[in-house]
Amino acid sequence: MTSNILKPFLILIFVGALIGSCSKKSVEEIPETEISSNFESGSIGEVTKESDHKWVLALKNDNDNPDLPERWRNWWYVRMDHVSQSVPTEIRIKNRGWPYYYTPVYSYDQENWFRFTEEEVTQNEDNELLINKKFEHLRVWIARFYPYTFSHLEIFIEEWNTHPSLKIQTAGKTQENRIIYLLTISDFDVDIENKKRVIMHARTHPAETPPSFLLEGMIDFLLSGSSEAKEILKTHEFSIFPMQNVDGVISGNYRSTPLSENLEVMWYYDTDNPVNLKPEAPQEVSVIHQYAKELMSDGGPPVSLALNLHASNSEPDIRTFFYPHFGTLEQGYSEAEASLWGKQIAFINSLAMHLGSDMIEPTTEEGGSSFASKTYPESWWWVNYQDQVMAMTMEQTYGRAGYAPYWVQPDDMRAMGVHVALGIRDYFNGKSGSNEFIKWANTASEGILKYPHLYPPRAKDELKE
Ligand SMILES: [Zn+2]
Repeated sequence: MTSNILKPFLILIFVGALIGSCSKKSVEEIPETEISSNFESGSIGEVTKESDHKWVLALKNDNDNPDLPERWRNWWYVRMDHVSQSVPTEIRIKNRGWPYYYTPVYSYDQENWFRFTEEEVTQNEDNELLINKKFEHLRVWIARFYPYTFSHLEIFIEEWNTHPSLKIQTAGKTQENRIIYLLTISDFDVDIENKKRVIMHARTHPAETPPSFLLEGMIDFLLSGSSEAKEILKTHEFSIFPMQNVDGVISGNYRSTPLSENLEVMWYYDTDNPVNLKPEAPQEVSVIHQYAKELMSDGGPPVSLALNLHASNSEPDIRTFFYPHFGTLEQGYSEAEASLWGKQIAFINSLAMHLGSDMIEPTTEEGGSSFASKTYPESWWWVNYQDQVMAMTMEQTYGRAGYAPYWVQPDDMRAMGVHVALGIRDYFNGKSGSNEFIKWANTASEGILKYPHLYPPRAKDELKE
């Protein structure tokens, strides 16, 4: 039985509960922030809400595969909905495969991207990144670096679709049946006979987006109709595979295919007849290989330059760098090995002439030979064609990358693409003057490395000895 004395209190509690439930209902009408990654190239692992505007985002392994090395964990790309415009949002990024500080990027429309400032991003002693930012719209996309998706590529290709100096082909399909594009760029009215043949491929590692911007810049320049570009097209043929690992790009992987394959090391050549690959080579590799083989035997001039485009995680001021192979005669290398080394150094010199020698990391004093017994694309080129083909990997970087104090942006990478085109032209012209080893101006990296043992190009994970 309830006593009469308690009754008013119970009524108060009842009314209070009513009010409480009403106010709770009105809170629910303001939707909670939601974080998702179920879109092209999106990726995130565990998402934890610490309080209303405070989130912890943990990076995940490619394909949620627990057996992959932690260094393969780097890419993340999320969408946040119902973000407060009055209170700063705090995001802690953890489970990162690399310890380097960086500033991620954000966008309100997936087209115009902005870098967070260094004031908005700090790093704690666990190497987690802490973002603190008051956003201006309810919806924001945030990513490790400027995304470049398969759709982005298709839009870019479509824009040049009818250009007479561009041939767009489907070179083959990925394991998930998507198009592997091949773009051939040349002045097709000029006979192939006296042209230099160049082959390039990018996005073997899906999240390495800088080469896609570089290729956009290079292609825009080559097709621009400028007299300089027209001259290059009369004397060169470029075969470009702009996106090798399309499935990995779409699924939001950093380094591998949906089957967790690292295509970079899967040029499984047949040792009995090394011009061919073994059947177990994934089709993303066979498609490029098959075309390269064709170019080497179709009666036209053989390929003489093969560039393998990548981007490397590194400290903020590390600039673009290369993996030249072998070294000089004096260092004990054979004639052919020293010749390849000389061509690689000449190419780097030629690019430096246009890009600026202070925009390239110092090259190692010798490149070593072990790549030759491995299964990189360059291994296949070397085993079959030795120094006839200047095959080399180029690594762009994601940070200030030589552009300090600001952080590299898509237009810088596009500009680099123009320099690559001019560098290729002058490499063939012999205008770089010297194939002597040049110790590059080392202004950016000297004395400022926080992790000298991880300094690219000596980072174990990516090293191509
Ligand atoms: Zn790579």
